[in-house]
Amino acid sequence: MKFLPALCCLIISSAFSQTTLEQDIIDIEPKVIEWRHHFHQNPELSNREFKTAKKIAEHLKSLGFEVQTGVAKTGVVGILKGDLPGKVVALRADIDALPVTERNDLPFKSEVRDTFLGTETGVMHACGHDTHISILMGVAEVFSKHKDKIKGTIKFIFQPAEEGPPPGEEGGASLMVKEGVLENPKVDAIFGLHINSATPVGTIKYKPGGMMAAVERFVVNVKGKQTHGSQPWGGVDPIYISAKIIDGYQSIISRESNLLVEPAVITVGKITSGVRFNIIPESAELIGTVRTLDADMRTKIITRMTEMTETIAKAYGGEATIEFQENTLVTYNDPDLTSQMLPSLEKAAGKDNVKLMKAVTGGEDFSYFQEVVPGLYFYLGGMTPGNTEAFPHHTPDFKIDDNGLILGVKAMTYLALDYLNN
Ligand SMILES: [Zn+2]
Ligand SMILES: [Zn+2]
Repeated sequence: MKFLPALCCLIISSAFSQTTLEQDIIDIEPKVIEWRHHFHQNPELSNREFKTAKKIAEHLKSLGFEVQTGVAKTGVVGILKGDLPGKVVALRADIDALPVTERNDLPFKSEVRDTFLGTETGVMHACGHDTHISILMGVAEVFSKHKDKIKGTIKFIFQPAEEGPPPGEEGGASLMVKEGVLENPKVDAIFGLHINSATPVGTIKYKPGGMMAAVERFVVNVKGKQTHGSQPWGGVDPIYISAKIIDGYQSIISRESNLLVEPAVITVGKITSGVRFNIIPESAELIGTVRTLDADMRTKIITRMTEMTETIAKAYGGEATIEFQENTLVTYNDPDLTSQMLPSLEKAAGKDNVKLMKAVTGGEDFSYFQEVVPGLYFYLGGMTPGNTEAFPHHTPDFKIDDNGLILGVKAMTYLALDYLNN
């Protein structure tokens, strides 16, 4: 009985401090939405996020964080050390926009124009990275008021060029990792989110294991021997060889890949060859993409495509080479970390609003962080409740409902706090 008063005090004090963090999350919402409108109206292309980075850095400095700028060209990293010693957790937001001309009629519509690969274009946050920046700035501000609750360190990573740097440039998550963003202090786990235009506000979607695909671009050069279209026996037909190669690729998927493990896709999206109907040309070029959700399957498919390209061409008297360009790895949610952190997501969204999703064949360069440290990536609802259809990401009509942002702040806050404190 004599412990009762002390126990009461404990309950009251922890309830009080919990309310304060909760209250700070609620209070930050208008600011997060205001920042989002600002970034939406001022989008910048990959590796060109100069003004965006400046605003982020100013905010983090105003909160008293240790701030690094110019990481992987235009990236910003803020470090917040808690009052208590412990692990290091990283939270990541990507910050770049796309060469898309906005068609939405919004008060904060983007009117920005720029040049992309020599073509003048509108610039738009058509993937919703404006929401990611604002959410993470909000999380940073909330945590700046609760250092006493943090057992360890939180690294806020604002990453440029998720959509891919311009040709010939390095950038994005892989460059950040190369420049040591996961070191000093060494990160133990990383969390990231993507707003989703087709997921209702208030909903979180996740998947343990492979959630988003490894993306490769490939180029095949087929060499034949030119001849008259009426005399194919006088040459080697690279178009015919290309057809056999494409056929071979699809057999790697349908006959050789264990699709019960994960799905996989090979697509040839472009074929270039020939000049007129009665000439069998000298060469052909195939360009395409491979999507995989399992690291071993990825290696096997790449190996088999290389073998097939060379041997099929040879079998028909020609030659062929294939080159792969890696765009992203598998966005792989560490299964243990995912089950450990699921209660935090459920606490943020409510149990019924956290849903298991199927893997998607789109890619995400958050995968480069997850290659080094265990990570969890999830989707955050951005679709207005009641809507059943949404314009896809990367399109001029892409739209996100501001009301979805607050759950992002909550989820990231709980993930970081619970990871460090448990
Ligand atoms: Zn995108
Ligand atoms: Zn994106």
